[in-house]
Amino acid sequence: MPEPTTSPVLILGAGLAGLSAAVRLAEAGRKVIVLEATRAGGGRARSFPDAATGRELDNGQHLLMGCYRETLAFLRTIDSTDGIYFQRNLSVHMVKPGGKRMHLDCPALPAPLHLATGLLTMRGLGVLDKAAAVRAGLLLRGEVARPDDNETCDSWLRRLGQTPALRNAFWDPLIWGTLNDDPLVSSAAMFTAVLERAFLSTRDASRLGVPRVPLSRLYVDQSLAYLRARGCEVRLGEPVRALDTSGSQVQGVTLKSGEQLTADTIISAVPPHAFLELLSGTWPAHPVYQDIARLKTSPIVNLWFTVDRAPFSEPFIGLVGSPLHWMFNRSQIEGSVGGDVLLNCTISSARACIDDPSEALQELLRGELERYFPGKVPQIRLFRAIKEKRATISHAAGSYHCRPETVGPIRGLYMAGDWVRTGLPATIESAVQSGHDAAKAVLA
Ligand SMILES: Cc1cc2nc3c(=O)[nH]c(=O)nc-3n(C[C@H](O)[C@H](O)[C@H](O)COP(=O)(O)OP(=O)(O)OC[C@H]3O[C@@H](n4cnc5c(N)ncnc54)[C@H](O)[C@@H]3O)c2cc1C
Repeated sequence: MPEPTTSPVLILGAGLAGLSAAVRLAEAGRKVIVLEATRAGGGRARSFPDAATGRELDNGQHLLMGCYRETLAFLRTIDSTDGIYFQRNLSVHMVKPGGKRMHLDCPALPAPLHLATGLLTMRGLGVLDKAAAVRAGLLLRGEVARPDDNETCDSWLRRLGQTPALRNAFWDPLIWGTLNDDPLVSSAAMFTAVLERAFLSTRDASRLGVPRVPLSRLYVDQSLAYLRARGCEVRLGEPVRALDTSGSQVQGVTLKSGEQLTADTIISAVPPHAFLELLSGTWPAHPVYQDIARLKTSPIVNLWFTVDRAPFSEPFIGLVGSPLHWMFNRSQIEGSVGGDVLLNCTISSARACIDDPSEALQELLRGELERYFPGKVPQIRLFRAIKEKRATISHAAGSYHCRPETVGPIRGLYMAGDWVRTGLPATIESAVQSGHDAAKAVLA
């Protein structure tokens, strides 16, 4: 019998996946060494001091849901749950061009009755729209039991007889927001996975949550402190250049600096394009890794701006039928009073404007503010656009099989990241679940 291994586990990447894996292993008494390319970590969910607005900004506004079980467990371990503001019950307010409002307010009833009642009493929907919502509700359990990754969300919604008004007010914004992809191309199976977790378990599962503190303070600083207090090493500004293998066993990594580290257990928690660059020899030709190369990405653009006054009173609001999907009042969420108000506008699956210059994006924003909030248009003072070209993988129908399992063809190498096979779209919850899955596999 070989001796059980106790050498440190190398973890590549200090985003949500890498840090949640590291924290889970440290909690179980294992030593880890986290290797992160950037000086600050946080990956695609990070914050930084911004000179244009003079504030600490997130690279993008992030929304969580009550069904993010693994994420909440992770935040509890690092003592950071206070950093999230959660609604009591699901409530989504939307505004139409011209300023007319639509409100989805779900009452304190057991799931899924809370959603059914919310939709049936939603202002702005007609009788036919409400009948369509009831039909979808009745069919949902059956649909969730037969997920079809080859069907698009658009075809799924048409098959369930969903009306244009209900799609505009409810389904399409939910798909853009959770899958970061167009309903015309995105996978119905990925969407029903979200619906199952959010609407078919408990009422709390569908509540929305928003970080009240900058993202890096929410989980990066806390995780690093947790790991260091347990004797683990975190090496920031240390890009890994290559995975070293012998036969089909992993042996360690070579850093960009040329330093080599030996390890028989490694968790890769870097994005797909970065992972493929780490492979050498004949590994890139392996079918599992060829599939990874087929994954496409989808961008997100965030517009941060300060105004003299907010044109809406809610913490966040959806814009029905606008390319600018959501607006958030960051000042209100963070509880800061006085002075200019910091707002955020999130554009999911932003292929149409990812290459636009900052001036064009500011013009688009100004136009949409006039269209949706006539008579209340605020004056934009400071403006900053943040573009994430590879914000998430694309969840195009038929692409799920390209995502790798936690354990693959290289022995000792465990895969983590929001893009591995978690059964979920690439989200915070998928990243943390993948980290926990990888840690569990290592401990097993
Ligand atoms: C703008 C935006 C908005 C989003 N909004 C939401 C939302 O509202 N709700 C939600 O649930 N999700 C949202 N997401 C998705 C969420 O941010 C991601 O799913 C999650 O952050 C992915 O975490 P990860 O650890 O898998 O990967 P990453 O965060 O990409 O972490 C990978 C880490 O690996 C490091 N790395 C890369 N190469 C190397 C190397 N060679 N050596 C060492 N380190 C390396 C990177 O620097 C990075 O720190 C959003 C994403 C973006 C970009």
